[in-house]
Amino acid sequence: MSVAPSEFRAGYVAIVGEPNVGKSTLMNALLDQKISIVTPKPQTTRQRILGILSKDDAQVVFLDTPGLIKPKYLLQERMLNSAESALKDADIILVMTEVSRGARLPREVEQLAIQRYSAKPILLVVNKVDTVYKPTVLPIMAEFARRGVFKEVIPISALQKDNLDDLLTTLIGYLPEHDPFYPLDIVSDSTERFFVSEFIREKVFEQFQEEIPYSAAVEIRDYREREKGKTYINADIVVERESQKRILIGTKGEALKKVGQAARSEIEEFLEHEVFLELRVKVREHWREREALLRNFGYSAAS
Ligand code: GDP
Ligand code: MG
Repeated sequence: MSVAPSEFRAGYVAIVGEPNVGKSTLMNALLDQKISIVTPKPQTTRQRILGILSKDDAQVVFLDTPGLIKPKYLLQERMLNSAESALKDADIILVMTEVSRGARLPREVEQLAIQRYSAKPILLVVNKVDTVYKPTVLPIMAEFARRGVFKEVIPISALQKDNLDDLLTTLIGYLPEHDPFYPLDIVSDSTERFFVSEFIREKVFEQFQEEIPYSAAVEIRDYREREKGKTYINADIVVERESQKRILIGTKGEALKKVGQAARSEIEEFLEHEVFLELRVKVREHWREREALLRNFGYSAAS
């Protein structure tokens, strides 16, 4: 790079790829703060989440996105839209895959991220190298590099924070010269309410199986910070059917209580403040197909 080191660089980096490869884990690791929820299940992230990393000479604005898949219902269509809008806004596209998939990328990733945006710098990150014997990574990288479409092919372990400094330095090298887009002391543009609702949703993902996590949304009904004492938060977990509601609540409310306890400690850690969390479960039939409800829960076409 032939730019004087005094020039500030800033820009947007979209992190895209198939579900579950570690996109949110990477953003959290780079920011050294958990702002995007992570679970072992695919399709945890439902909208683009902005993470801002400010350094002395650069500001990198990461856009974490839902995995690129073929949508089956309206919510998934909205999820895909938000990934697409991140791709459109990005200065750099960071395509992520995980090492166990070899040197192949799914069709959605090829079409939506690579073919369509070949004019932008596309970097390929091969994640989860901690899960394999190191020498097996090299041929995969070589094969990706041979395609000639990626500016860089970088192996990392987002979980173990392995090779992230290298990735960051490389990324900054591709950023345009620009003044910072955001104040240097903020890490995201989302509200505390949003993060709180995400932490509750994360616990539903962790504690329930099959369709329940995918049928659940969280709506904050009341959020009151008090001069003294705990912040009062009242939230609804919305599911699609009575049968799901019964499972979420559990015998004598045990299951919901567990969600509440886990969510509360996560929220308190994030807010660095004690909270009083009240959860209820509601049924909204087929909310994942209903435009107005999707908008209510923050899954609008534009986000
Ligand atoms: P996303 O759907 O692409 O955002 O993936 P997540 O960040 O939610 O991660 C999905 C799962 O992969 C979680 O269980 C993570 O802990 C795990 N994971 C992410 N990065 C790594 C990694 O570098 N190594 C290993 N072993 N697991 C990882
Ligand atoms: Mg994610």
